[in-house]
Amino acid sequence: MQVAATRKIVVLGTGGTIAGTSSVAGANVGYTAGQIGVQQLLAAVPALAQASPCNLEAEQIAQIDSKDMDFSVWARLAGRCAQHLADPLVAGIVITHGTDTLEETAWLLRELLAASRPVVLTCAMRPATALVPDGPQNLLDAVTLAAEPSACGVLMVAAGVVHGARAVSKVHPLRLDAFASGDEGSLGWVEAGRVRWAHGRAPAVTAPRHAALLPGLATAAWPRVEIVHSHAGADGCVVDWLVDKGVRGIVVAATGNGTLHRALEAALARAVAAGVAVRAASRCPEGRMLAIEGAPWRDAEGLSPVKARISLMLELMDGA
Ligand code: ASP
Repeated sequence: MQVAATRKIVVLGTGGTIAGTSSVAGANVGYTAGQIGVQQLLAAVPALAQASPCNLEAEQIAQIDSKDMDFSVWARLAGRCAQHLADPLVAGIVITHGTDTLEETAWLLRELLAASRPVVLTCAMRPATALVPDGPQNLLDAVTLAAEPSACGVLMVAAGVVHGARAVSKVHPLRLDAFASGDEGSLGWVEAGRVRWAHGRAPAVTAPRHAALLPGLATAAWPRVEIVHSHAGADGCVVDWLVDKGVRGIVVAATGNGTLHRALEAALARAVAAGVAVRAASRCPEGRMLAIEGAPWRDAEGLSPVKARISLMLELMDGA
């Protein structure tokens, strides 16, 4: 008789406040992120055993404060996700991550991974040693979401709310419900161990634009792409300096619907003439810029400046 192999959920640890500790008992600030191993995080939540019929497998990818996220951790994480997704026994992946750059990692993975099964990022706003930490519930919700048969694609869950990689951003430095998806809205909720999708249906998976980069990502040279803001008194000096330093791309965080200080606009035109790729993203936290007829650069297709920077780096790596 053949025994069916048990499916598994892989939990990849990268650090963050969810793995943070403080020497001051119960403190919510002034802690050190990325201290507790992912195996220990799982062991602290006995209810995980009931959250899914799958086995849980833990793997430590990194142990950092996500404010210090770098290309080598990104490459390692994306590579391991791709390997696990290629394993038919893997029902889903959970990634424990710091809140600070979670939206960037989520977008990177969305651009790289063909995720026909869920890849769920989660985090915490309070360290594991807090009086009432939020990490254990978020981890439980993430495993519930990763085990949900209708779920797919790169998702994140925190404070019971499910967000998609494109729209999510951290909007608050302290409160537990620190993430929002602007006017696109959240994708659903995890409530008492069940997933409830907004509008009654799971979101469809979107094909990644840069999957071809995955095999060479670990050794790839990431092109320098910087973000420059348009603001009162922006004189464009920083753009000229970046061009001088060999920048390959610039994302300009423009005012409103892509408007720019005229001095900055002139400097960006000089950058384009020097062969630098420029994209305009709105610095408004909500809404989506409309394309501007005749603009000398493309807009960021509704991405925030930090996500537009990731897409432009990948685009330049892809030689697109
Ligand atoms: N600095 C921390 C990090 O992003 C913040 C957090 O996780 O909430 O790793």
